[in-house]
Amino acid sequence: NSHIRLILGDQLTHSLSSLRDAVPASDIILMAEVRTEATYVKHHKKKIALIFSAMRHFAEELRARGFTVRYTRYDDPENAGSLLSELRRMITPDTKTVTVTEAAEFRLLAEMHNWQDTLGIPVRILSDDRFLATPQEFATWANGRKQLRMEFFYREMRRKLGILMEGNDPVGGQWNFDAENRKPPKSGLLIPAPFETAPDALTRDVLELVESSFPDHFGDLLPFHFATTRTDALAVLDHFITLRLPHFGTYQDAMIADDPWMFHSHISFYLNIGLLTPLECIRAAERAYSDNEAPLNAVEGFIRQILGWREFVRGLYWFRMPDYANDNALGATRALPPMFWTGQTQMNCLSQSFGQTIEWAYAHHIQRLMVIGNFALLAGLSPDEVNEWFLIVYADAFEWVELPNVTGMILFADGGVLASKPYAASGAYINRMSNYCSGCRYKVSVKNGPEACPFNYLYWNFLDQHQSNLGKNPRLGMPYRNLARMSDEKLDAVRIDSARFLKQLDAGDLV
Ligand code: FAD
Ligand code: SF4
Repeated sequence: NSHIRLILGDQLTHSLSSLRDAVPASDIILMAEVRTEATYVKHHKKKIALIFSAMRHFAEELRARGFTVRYTRYDDPENAGSLLSELRRMITPDTKTVTVTEAAEFRLLAEMHNWQDTLGIPVRILSDDRFLATPQEFATWANGRKQLRMEFFYREMRRKLGILMEGNDPVGGQWNFDAENRKPPKSGLLIPAPFETAPDALTRDVLELVESSFPDHFGDLLPFHFATTRTDALAVLDHFITLRLPHFGTYQDAMIADDPWMFHSHISFYLNIGLLTPLECIRAAERAYSDNEAPLNAVEGFIRQILGWREFVRGLYWFRMPDYANDNALGATRALPPMFWTGQTQMNCLSQSFGQTIEWAYAHHIQRLMVIGNFALLAGLSPDEVNEWFLIVYADAFEWVELPNVTGMILFADGGVLASKPYAASGAYINRMSNYCSGCRYKVSVKNGPEACPFNYLYWNFLDQHQSNLGKNPRLGMPYRNLARMSDEKLDAVRIDSARFLKQLDAGDLV
């Protein structure tokens, strides 16, 4: 009599709910590199390599713990191509049950709910308790609220888990220290080199496989430095806590040309596939504060990203799916211009952000939000195409986290469920937070005409075009008052420049 435990590529956690009561002597673990998951969008090559290599290492660890693991490699001629067909291939008359932890994405969880009927044996779907709030908890919090604001959800999470708390009060007397955070970069800032892991034999095999099986997928495969084991992922975390965390808050929104990594943690890759758990990352930062190794503004700011934003977007995803995927509140329809794939543009901020994305399958939050995202919003790019792009290009991209960030945070396509106002900005913001503008063909100080920074006129054009939708948003009162005061001549120039630029963009011209 056997019991099958199916482990997915983003479930590489030894304490996973579906492994917790597994018995090495009688249970069989199934892991499979399947075509349906690897190609439902054309994921960045580094992303596929990260996941396959981490899966193979995890399978080895399970074997070392005495488990029988049946592992199907991508190029195995017997590979049936989907998780369901792999399960079917493995089930024998002796198989009693299949156990799996719920999939993180709607698409796959919906499929899983049919497996029991299709396979004709009991399929136990367990909840994924690596997350710190259940979808039900989020729904209870969200139901009946007029607005869903991360900050209030985050405070409840702090209270519930007792993180950075002194009794009922937040440590330091405030929930949020952003007034001390988000400073522009200083010149001469010393940024530690990122942690790099050299590929071992197992990873090298995977790199060859990815090169030969996914040649037309996006992005550079090499160099490949991702951690692919829990031990190395813990070393990345440790490296961050020791070397970067003290400056994390201060430079959280800063961007410097040719520095993709800044003071960020680079742990999303590992959190999202299970090599690290959110709670251990939060506790490690909290410990650094109590040991006086990092200031409160940095520690609180970092913890808010994981305990606040990460849990909040995941809760919102399940709360709003499946409708969330179709939201397009601003009616945006423009096709994604070629520069998203080629990185070819004269706009230095975009060229830097795209270039790093192609090379590293990474860009930090402010590049995703205020450079690429801001551009996608102002240019009116179609939510479907922008979502697909973000799902493809980042090695940490899974729909549950990518979709709310794209549809809700950058495109305002949910009409303000996630954000109280669109994150729209002119070139002045990018200039303040980066040194990109000094290396750009456009002039950030020029507002109109061929030399002007395109963000400058696109920003006013966006507000102008969406006046009926956004004009009454109380948080946009000031910009709309400024728009109302704008001379007809100036507004005409904004409209003409924007039309010219967007026409060039649509024609695939180099902008
Ligand atoms: P740090 O800046 O060091 O932050 C620490 C951790 O906090 C991250 O590892 C991440 O787990 C969490 N976090 C921070 N911000 C967010 C957020 N807005 N939503 C959820 N978690 C957050 N993150 C993903 O993990 N996968 C995605 O596919 C993804 N797509 C994004 C798309 C857009 C348009 C935007 C604006 C943000 C997206 N993010 C996504 C959130 C964030 O940009 C990344 O988590 C972060 O850049 C990862 O780098 P890091 O680990 O160095 O993060
Ligand atoms: Fe970007 Fe405008 Fe600055 Fe150029 S001038 S880097 S386009 S913000």
